[in-house]
Formats: sequence, structure tokens, C-alpha cells
Amino acid sequence: MNLMKTSFISCCCLPTCKSSKVDRKGWKRAFLKVLKRKKSLRAYFWKDKQYISTVPVAASLENDVHNGFDRSREFDYVIVGGGAAGCVLASRLSEDRSSTVLLLEAGKEDSNFYIHVPMGFPYLVGSDLDWKYQSANEEKLFDRKVIWPRGKVLGGSHTISVALYLRGSANDYRDWEKSGATGWGPEDVLPYFLKAENNLRGASAYHGKGGPLKVSDLPSPNEMSQAFVIAGQTLDIPCNKDFNDWSHSQEGIGFFQVTQADGKRVSPATCLFTSSSRPKKSLC
Ligand SMILES: Cc1cc2nc3c(=O)[nH]c(=O)nc-3n(C[C@H](O)[C@H](O)[C@H](O)COP(=O)(O)OP(=O)(O)OC[C@H]3O[C@@H](n4cnc5c(N)ncnc54)[C@H](O)[C@@H]3O)c2cc1C
Repeated sequence: MNLMKTSFISCCCLPTCKSSKVDRKGWKRAFLKVLKRKKSLRAYFWKDKQYISTVPVAASLENDVHNGFDRSREFDYVIVGGGAAGCVLASRLSEDRSSTVLLLEAGKEDSNFYIHVPMGFPYLVGSDLDWKYQSANEEKLFDRKVIWPRGKVLGGSHTISVALYLRGSANDYRDWEKSGATGWGPEDVLPYFLKAENNLRGASAYHGKGGPLKVSDLPSPNEMSQAFVIAGQTLDIPCNKDFNDWSHSQEGIGFFQVTQADGKRVSPATCLFTSSSRPKKSLC
């Protein structure tokens, strides 16, 4: 692994503007300078730009054979969109060595430097990895249009996301079930969440261990964030230590868990291509 994690720096410390061109060396120098002064803050360091390797899945259909992809080849499953859902589907379906799976993704591979850095997402929203949608003019916002980011990259919106691990509330699934989505109640979906998860807190009634998606606590929450949570508690807002624990209300104040591990963000795409147990032969 090329990324040497020493610790974590909160997003609060990021330059907030999305500058079009980032001078990485300059930024890194400035960043390290700040860190030297701010001894209480910690950071991720890296040795070079090469973080992760993926296999190319975005096959061009313009030529009969392109990058080794033969257009005349047939597949048992064709998945359009290599986003969060598409990657999970491709991953699970390709476990069966006897079937072949084609995953078509309109965006690029997830090789951008900032995808894998936990605090990198401000550089991704609005970049060429974003479809850059906008809302219609919003009357209640003085007719402003609101940016509506969606990931255009392997791993989809998750790849440009904040990486909070939040499943929604049990009531959401209960409502789905009541609306006719049989098999989508909280008791039905929970086993699949547990199966997918590798929570570094360990296994419990609401968390799984050993799945492909690593979930962890923030290694070193920012001091400002800690102060915010403590301030909330002094106002009698209940402390919520686990927003995915459906045995109690989701209301409260606390820290989210994140899909990060070993100093890097984890996405469905990274799970798909890095899981050692995954037979890849059937996947294009
Ligand atoms: C900025 C941002 C921050 C977020 N933060 C969080 C968070 O912290 N925690 C959380 O739980 N959720 C977060 N989300 C939401 C989460 O990312 C999405 O709910 C999730 O990714 C949706 O999965 P999906 O598979 O439905 O769609 P997507 O992940 O968006 O995948 C759709 C994929 O289809 C591809 N595609 C579209 N059209 C075509 C085509 N014609 N041909 C081929 N490919 C195509 C797209 O390029 C994309 O890769 C965030 C989303 C955004 C945008």
C-alpha cells in the first residue's frame, strides 16, 4: 500500500474553494507547513500518486475489438452503470465462475488521486467525475438553481461522496413494505447490510464483520467537531453513538461511522476490484 496513514485531519481544514487547477506539490508543501504549526491536527501522508489499481471495465463499443474487449462476445449479465448498486451486483454475480458479467460505466476508472483520500471529495464534486446536474430554478431559493452532483465514475456517486455510513432508518424500509415492496422491510434488508459490512467495531446485532465493505469510526475527530457534539449534549440533545442501530431512535447527536479504512476511502468499486476472495475471471 502506497498510502501511509499517520492519522486523520478533518475536512474543516481543507481549502474550501474548488480551484480548477490544483498545484499538488505546492498544496502538499503548504499543507505540511500548517500541520507542523498545528501539532494537535494530524494528516494522511502519501509516497506517490499511485494508490489503487483497477481493471478497465468501461469498454468502448465503437470498435469490434477495443482494449482487448471483443464486441461480439456474449455475456450472461450486462449491468449498465458501475455505480454503488452496479458494482455490488457485478461483484456478487461474478462470484459464480460459470457466468460472465459485463459492467458498463459511462465515467472513468476510479484512479483520481482525491477519490481515495478521505478529505478529497470537495475536489471531486464539480469535476469531470461529476455529471454536474442542476435543479430547476427554485422558487423558494430566490429562483436559484441548486447544484445536484452525481458521480460519473466507477463506483458512481459513492466515489465522489462524503463516505458516511448511514443506512436510513428502519421506518423508511417499513414504509416501503407498507407501500407494497414485499421483501424490503427492515428485517428483510438487515441481513444483507450485515453481509456486506466489515465493521471495525466488530459484529453486533446491527453490524457485520467479514464483508467486503469496510466501515470504521473516524480515527481522530476534529476538535471543533468534538466541541459541537459536547455542546449539543449540554442542550439535552441525546447522544447517539450509532446511527445505524435500529434498536433506538435515530435522533441525537454524535459521530457517523465512515466507509474508510487504513487511511483511505472505501467504495463499492474498490471492494469490487480489491477483494481477494473475488474470482475476477468472469468479469469484464
Ligand atoms: C456528493 C455526494 C455525497 C454523498 N454522500 C453520501 C454519504 O456520505 N453517505 C451515503 O450513504 N451516501 C452518500 N451519497 C449518496 C450515494 O452516493 C448514492 O445514494 C449512491 O451512490 C446511489 O447508488 P446508485 O448505484 O443508485 O447510483 P450511482 O452510484 O450514482 O451510480 C450510477 C452510475 O451509473 C452511471 N451511468 C449513468 N448513465 C449511464 C449510462 N447511460 N451508461 C453507463 N453508465 C451510466 C453513472 O456514471 C454512475 O457511475 C452521496 C452522493 C453524492 C452525489
